[in-house]
Amino acid sequence: MDDCIFCKIINGEIPSVKVYEDDRVFAFEDINPIRDGHTLIIPKSHAENIWEMSAEDMAAVAKAARKLAGAIRKALDPAGIACLQLNGRAVNQLVMHYHLHLIPQKEDDPELTMTAWKLVAGDMDRIGKTGEKIAAAVS
Ligand code: AMP
Ligand code: ZN
Repeated sequence: MDDCIFCKIINGEIPSVKVYEDDRVFAFEDINPIRDGHTLIIPKSHAENIWEMSAEDMAAVAKAARKLAGAIRKALDPAGIACLQLNGRAVNQLVMHYHLHLIPQKEDDPELTMTAWKLVAGDMDRIGKTGEKIAAAVS
């Protein structure tokens, strides 16, 4: 896609710190890293979000995530890695080319805000009804 910054990274029109590439995916370092080793995995074929992703590209990203999580553990020895992926402006997706964030967290790093939501018990009736709606919509 012509005006997509991540397509330009894949094509080499914009520089990046590449860490991995195969026939379907490209992975590189985020230039505004939340933590050292903050890595992005993207499909080479432009898709805006999870709804536009092919099953094959989703599988390729998942496989690359497993490989890169191993590499990050070996290289940086984090205590944990958060995998985060945003779909839509409403959840602050900024770059409209699907990307999975891998964010390594060291033991003494401050808590990652997106992993620290408070557990508040829900209304089981509402949860059940919503679950039924989703289950009925699975195709
Ligand atoms: P989001 O769409 O909110 O999931 O996040 C987009 C991410 O892309 C942000 O973490 C940015 O720092 C990152 N980003 C934007 N432009 C570049 C770039 N040219 N190279 C590497 N990372 C980028
Ligand atoms: Zn793109």
